[in-house]
Amino acid sequence: MSLFQASFEVQSAAVRVRFGEGIRRQISSEVERLGRKRALVLSTPPQADAAMEVAADLNGLAAGIFTKATMHTPVDVTAEALEHAGAVEADCLVALGGGSTVGLGKAIAYQTDLPQIVVPTTYAGSEATAILGQTQNGVKTTVTDPRIQPEVILYDAELVRTLPVAMTVTSALNAMAHAAEALYAQNRNPMSTMIAIEGLKAFAAALPRVLDNPDDLTARGETLYGAWLCGTVLGQVGMALHHKLCHTLGGSFDLPHAETHAVVLPHAIAFNARAVPDLLAPVTEIFGGSNPGRALFDFAKSIGSPLALRELGLKQDDLSTAAELATRKPYWNPQPVTRPAINELLLAAWAGGPPAA
Ligand code: NAD
Repeated sequence: MSLFQASFEVQSAAVRVRFGEGIRRQISSEVERLGRKRALVLSTPPQADAAMEVAADLNGLAAGIFTKATMHTPVDVTAEALEHAGAVEADCLVALGGGSTVGLGKAIAYQTDLPQIVVPTTYAGSEATAILGQTQNGVKTTVTDPRIQPEVILYDAELVRTLPVAMTVTSALNAMAHAAEALYAQNRNPMSTMIAIEGLKAFAAALPRVLDNPDDLTARGETLYGAWLCGTVLGQVGMALHHKLCHTLGGSFDLPHAETHAVVLPHAIAFNARAVPDLLAPVTEIFGGSNPGRALFDFAKSIGSPLALRELGLKQDDLSTAAELATRKPYWNPQPVTRPAINELLLAAWAGGPPAA
């Protein structure tokens, strides 16, 4: 059966995407292609050496380096980066890193409209969306704007080879969460569903191979392909309960981003499978098992993912506040979101057992 829907809308961004081992060495040709001459290279502090290599490769097209990108894009770091970009007269941005560095580039572009070249080093997928999450005084807000969408993405498998195994696992599950929720998004369309299914298939096929041999560049490349697809659907359709729970747990309890996604995903999907079993059927087709939540739980367990929110530092006493916050202004969700149901879901995710079917 095809994925045809009788009525739908598709909104795609004009993004140039290039894949290939070593493709990061072609950033200078992308800067030239954009007609720019003064790139500001961005990274986190631990990735400063890689940023310096990129700047050296830019052969005179690098105007400066800013290596203070921070998780959740604090606005004070953005202000400092904006000042630096102005001081070096940057006319474009090169972000090398995961969602934190990509977030900083997006925050600068949102205010300056400088074009962005992104070279992702995790699977988070932020490079493929026009969404920016930023924090001020501990409060995270999200904004969507065409200026935020990066213009060029270069996916280089050699760069994810250094991603530690634990982060490889959680970052992949973070990406898969975008695709899983895209399957039942209210504004899904046949193309977003195709992309989501292919993204999940890429991770199912390649992630076990990466974990067997983290230096397997073909498998690393396939996981990056999955990340691109999963990020692309995140940019195209709305997310639901799973993302709401993760934003609440990350924003209000400071739980780590990718790990939280990894733990919550099977529970959120099991919950929603009660309402939309047919839309989630591709998950069991891809990962096996009797139901989508259990299939994702077993897959996460088999690849050594954290399985319990308590392992991430959440206290049992915090569960009722988390449930209250997550249900106060819920996102649209296929299964009705009630306080008792979310209490139950969070308790199961906190304890770390398989999700209730
Ligand atoms: P991250 O960017 O914070 O990276 C985590 C750590 O891993 C950092 O210290 C980084 O330097 C290091 N690292 C990254 N790649 C590495 C590599 N290949 N080798 C060695 N170390 C590496 O983590 P993330 O999970 O990619 O991003 C999380 C952030 O992205 C969150 O703030 C989240 O909200 C945001 N995000 C935004 C979107 C969006 O569309 N707006 C989508 C997904 C995630």
